[in-house]
Amino acid sequence: MNPSLLQKRWQQLPEAAVRRWQAEQLRHYLRTVVLPFSPRYGKMFREHGLEADSIRTLDDLQHVPFTTKADLLSSAEHPQRFRDFILVPDPRQLARRPGTIVRALLRGREQVKADFESEFRPIFVTFTTGRSAEPTPFFYTQRDDRLFNIFPFAPHLAFWFAHYAGTAAGVMVLSSGGGKVMGTDGTIRHLRKFKPDIIIGIPTFVYHLLHQAAEEGARCENLRSIVLGGEKVSDGLRHKLRDLAAELGAPRVDVLATYGFTEAKMAWAECPFPHDQPSGGYHLHPDLGIMEVIDPKTGAVLPSGQPGELVFTPLDARGSVVLRYRTGDFIDGGLTYEPCPYCRRSLPRLMGNISRCSEVKAMAFDKIKGTLVDFNELEHVLDDAPEIGAWQVELRKVNDDPLELDEIILHVQKINGADEAQLSRELNTRCVTRLEIHPNRIEFHDADSIRRLQGVGELLKEQKLVDHRPSARTVAAQTA
Ligand SMILES: [Zn+2]
Repeated sequence: MNPSLLQKRWQQLPEAAVRRWQAEQLRHYLRTVVLPFSPRYGKMFREHGLEADSIRTLDDLQHVPFTTKADLLSSAEHPQRFRDFILVPDPRQLARRPGTIVRALLRGREQVKADFESEFRPIFVTFTTGRSAEPTPFFYTQRDDRLFNIFPFAPHLAFWFAHYAGTAAGVMVLSSGGGKVMGTDGTIRHLRKFKPDIIIGIPTFVYHLLHQAAEEGARCENLRSIVLGGEKVSDGLRHKLRDLAAELGAPRVDVLATYGFTEAKMAWAECPFPHDQPSGGYHLHPDLGIMEVIDPKTGAVLPSGQPGELVFTPLDARGSVVLRYRTGDFIDGGLTYEPCPYCRRSLPRLMGNISRCSEVKAMAFDKIKGTLVDFNELEHVLDDAPEIGAWQVELRKVNDDPLELDEIILHVQKINGADEAQLSRELNTRCVTRLEIHPNRIEFHDADSIRRLQGVGELLKEQKLVDHRPSARTVAAQTA
């Protein structure tokens, strides 16, 4: 099969063709790039008796052991473990390759050297954050669009990916640095002046921004898309953001979620879909990487459509490279190769909701008041409630005594003039029926006070979940 077929016609190819081409591309990538130049995988393949040609079909990828986040972490014995994953080309080996010799004859030795330099020299670095890998945005756009990038300014993938992808696509990009850099007021001033077609950012901050802008009577009639990354996006939240956009004079806005992670160095987006229909899922780039869905307990690869953990293998990365990387993220609708009902492309798509187990574990949120609490579900309960704007979940101990019982306090911003007593009752009922927990208190806030609680304009990433239990603080202090 002609490799350029996948690059040019990837949108129409059937599953079998995509998988065949991916196996071919993977063999080529392993043989020419990963195995000769990756300290980690060169050694791993030798130890397991594997070579590039062991991957005859995509099913053979299962012979390659997984890589996990723990493998990337440095330890006392290996203080620079991340270096094992960076590709380090061997100039002598590159010089011996027939392709290199031909190019040197045609274009000169200096030019070939410069080409290899630009191919392999790491020039751009992002970091994962403590709480979880910072997801990255991806968007479809055209020339002349104005993109307002309000991801927090930091050496994380989201900000830079949005910035560089925007400029590379020839879009006019304003990267504000988010609430901490410009504040909500400063960001709204830019929103008024810049009049973006697309806003891209973290849902919590985007919500605050649009809410305050609407309160101030700002207009943003050009707005066509809101692209979100870094947090889950529920249907309730999409609804609220579309309502706010309508108040700003933009009644037909698509709210699109993205999924990505640092180790993939890319992100995948939904395509626009009718507002009364379910999402068409995250559209993958089959020419750039392979996504597997596995049973998290056994590691077995699952068939299309089954829920499981996402595992990623790049097909053409340089710099740091991880093969069969276990994301720790669960997709509840699995992977499909069926053509997308909205854009008709037949590229692989991830269907349903993705939850990060790291989010749950990082907060020690598994057992509260002796009940296993599903944070994803709690988030949905709050996002879906039409009378609630922003919110925060606070965990405390009764009287701040570490030996006492856990308390859950819901801080909510009431919108649409809801009655407090009635809203409290309804929220309690939803928490009990969907999560089997009783919040100890529900506290109501205006927009200003919920902004202060979440640290909008103060923190890099707004806080929707805070753990004020004394034991949690002690644990945090010990591990810091
Ligand atoms: Zn689509």
